[in-house]
Amino acid sequence: MLRRMILVVGGAGFVGSHICKSLRAQNIEHLVFDNLEKGHSQAIVGSQLAVGDIRDPATLERVFADNDIDTVMHFAAYIEVGESVTDPAKYYRNNFQGVLNLMDAMRNHRVEQFVFSSTAAVYGEPKYVPIDELHPKDPTSPYGETKWNVERMIQSFGRAYGLRSVALRYFNAAGASPDGSIGEDHDPETHLIARALLAAMGKVPPLTIFGTDYDTPDGTCLRDYVHVLDLAQAHILAIKHLRSGGESRQFNLGYGNGFSVRQVINAVEKVTGMEVPKSEGPRREGDPARLIASSTKIREELGWNPEFNDLETIVSHAWKWRQAFPNGYGL
Ligand code: UDP
Repeated sequence: MLRRMILVVGGAGFVGSHICKSLRAQNIEHLVFDNLEKGHSQAIVGSQLAVGDIRDPATLERVFADNDIDTVMHFAAYIEVGESVTDPAKYYRNNFQGVLNLMDAMRNHRVEQFVFSSTAAVYGEPKYVPIDELHPKDPTSPYGETKWNVERMIQSFGRAYGLRSVALRYFNAAGASPDGSIGEDHDPETHLIARALLAAMGKVPPLTIFGTDYDTPDGTCLRDYVHVLDLAQAHILAIKHLRSGGESRQFNLGYGNGFSVRQVINAVEKVTGMEVPKSEGPRREGDPARLIASSTKIREELGWNPEFNDLETIVSHAWKWRQAFPNGYGL
């Protein structure tokens, strides 16, 4: 029998839940595996959920034994760079050891297609921008190290065991579903757009601009904000690539535009019509001045054609969700 189920590991989180919505819209069979530590079951209504943790090999084993899985997508990672510096063991145990457990279970059940969420953090301090996939990999945090080490492990598994994979290196994931039904709800919320919206609503303290003395036009850092639905489209293309027998690939996901922290705050103020209370503070450790993607490779090889390449659109979708869920999914 043809196996056709996708296991979406960490599917109840921000990026994973938007991919599940796209999978549902396209009637692509899938099962979410999530420990709900950071994820929200309300974000995946309509998708089947198995609650479990990738740090527990026995549970993984059962999920693969009980379901006809042919492809795995992985989103279940801790993502706070600062926390990874102070508690690297937590990051290596989940973001690295957890993925090894997952890939062991895949091997045991001859599942050979893997889509992995990687990050621009694998590159470290950019030597040039826009950053292409060949840029040297020199992560500056344990978070980035765990992602790069997994990418290398995936490549070794490919050579030794025939695993075929697509690693997608996200730049700054942002936005929300345009219908306002699902969005970004992290605790704590550290990401700029989501946090600026909360600051405008008075739900978190005033925003601190981390560093105003960077060598950039307005002195604040430039980032390549990419709409979560364009990330979702890339994941669906990656699945199609692997299911049609495609070889292993690594791709950047960003638009190639850099927006400064001040430009983002201005966009939030324009979209919400509210002021973002803010102050200027020192640089945050490990923040490069510019992180801007070259995404030529995924456009050419997979036909990625982003639809939401516009900062105000990204902010307005995030705002629509935040207005519908002012306290997040917890209510
Ligand atoms: N940033 C900021 N204040 C905040 C949060 C973020 O100035 O409260 C800046 C941060 O220094 C970086 C940019 O906003 O230059 C994007 O940060 P975020 O944490 O959203 O994503 P990252 O680039 O770390 O993945």
